[in-house]
Amino acid sequence: MKIDDFPEEMKDYLLPSHVAQMAYQCIGCGESYPLDRFLYTCPRCGGLLRIIDLNFDALKRIPGLLWQKIFDYRKMLNLDGLKGIFLFHELILPIVPLADVIYLGEGHTPMVKANEELSRWVGVDFYLKYDGLNPSASFKDRGMASAISFINYMIKAKGIEKLVGVCASTGDTSAAAALYLSYLSKEVVHSVVLLPRGKVTSAQLSQPLGSGATVIEIPGVFDDCMRIVERLAEEYEVCLLNSKNPVRIQGQKSYSYEVAQQLDFKTRDLVVVVPIGNAGNVTAVMEGFVDLYDLGIIEGLPMILGIQSVHANPIVLWRHSGEYRPVEVRPSVAQAAMIGNPVSFPKVSRLVEEYFKERFMAIQVTEQEIIEGMLITNRHGHVVCTQGGESIVGLKKGVEMGLVRSDHKVVVDSTSHQLKFAGFQQMYFDDSLPEEYEIRPRKELKNRPVPLEASAEAIAQYLGLEKRKGDEARRNR
Ligand SMILES: *Cc1c(COP(=O)(O)O)cnc(C)c1O
Ligand SMILES: [Zn+2]
Repeated sequence: MKIDDFPEEMKDYLLPSHVAQMAYQCIGCGESYPLDRFLYTCPRCGGLLRIIDLNFDALKRIPGLLWQKIFDYRKMLNLDGLKGIFLFHELILPIVPLADVIYLGEGHTPMVKANEELSRWVGVDFYLKYDGLNPSASFKDRGMASAISFINYMIKAKGIEKLVGVCASTGDTSAAAALYLSYLSKEVVHSVVLLPRGKVTSAQLSQPLGSGATVIEIPGVFDDCMRIVERLAEEYEVCLLNSKNPVRIQGQKSYSYEVAQQLDFKTRDLVVVVPIGNAGNVTAVMEGFVDLYDLGIIEGLPMILGIQSVHANPIVLWRHSGEYRPVEVRPSVAQAAMIGNPVSFPKVSRLVEEYFKERFMAIQVTEQEIIEGMLITNRHGHVVCTQGGESIVGLKKGVEMGLVRSDHKVVVDSTSHQLKFAGFQQMYFDDSLPEEYEIRPRKELKNRPVPLEASAEAIAQYLGLEKRKGDEARRNR
């Protein structure tokens, strides 16, 4: 729809005009630094940074109900810079001009009502938000869209001539980083990803390779890759693309804005279920709802259910004991969440303390439950990965524990696409999962092709089909 066709009272708001004053702010010592450089930790105390808009209060001059209308009307506007996550430009990176926004098709993922039988199995009605339908097939694209838009803006504003973008990843971050970086000029940007050798599926390896990134494999697990990338970011001229980069968190907040919008901003009694790995996503989800709440766009904050595998459960242990300690991870089919010392833990702790308190719960599930959660969900017309399966069985436990009730509105974050984790499904079907996963495949959930002779009779016999009565069979021939 063209601007001229919108109602008169909306025209002034369709294009963002908010003048922001963005800064990095250390969550440790509180020091702030202007958002005119790449920064990942506080130069003074080494603390984690978040991004703030010192002029955020100016946004409060617009009432919450009007914001709802602005975002709803904007969805009808065909304008490149406002199409994806930047529909919420004022809340993401208002310093980046619309012309510098990079949009590769991310965001506005569908929210699908869970199948009835599946809901009965879980114990409550719920929706699945399919973030696996983003361009690189995971929610990471949301954060990459903001990070790369910021890089694009910086390249232009600062006249940067060479930039090396690096990330460490169990797979999905590198897929997203490589995809988005490859959209920028080859003459300026070089994309590099660090992976733990033998710990990612061939499907996950294929994405950064296909996008033309330099893929470096090192021995160890994700946490080892992360340590090296952090050293690189501290001591060398590189741009870090892990979720420690607070610009990524800005983009990932769009998940919450969309959930609210898809519920017509009626978020009373909302429960959002997210798998937790490095804890960047759950941080962004919480921050996103806090923004909406601060601006009066929603009436209250939702309850957040964070789910972890018993093989990688530092947040669950923290929530139960009150004490945070990194854990030694064991192999998990929810590989994208297999992290023993989540980088964003201090942010989670702070958000829970300040805003979520009793509204943040952490639940752990077994490996057996995770993979079966995925298989059962996908057998009911859905498309979820192992982390999606993890969230669904986590929700099931939340219902059993009495935390989630039938009067709640429930949204489960389906963080990536089933195809990315097809290898685990195959190993389950073939009974070839290594011992450490502690998974015993159940016969009724296995599925494999049936080799038969190339004849209708053989197939009909196998399927137990009834033969048609004489006349009809001839007529249909
Ligand atoms: C990254 C990722 C997660 C975990 O998100 P964090 O921000 O690391 O907590 C979960 N699922 C998928 C598919 C992911 O790619
Ligand atoms: Zn500091």
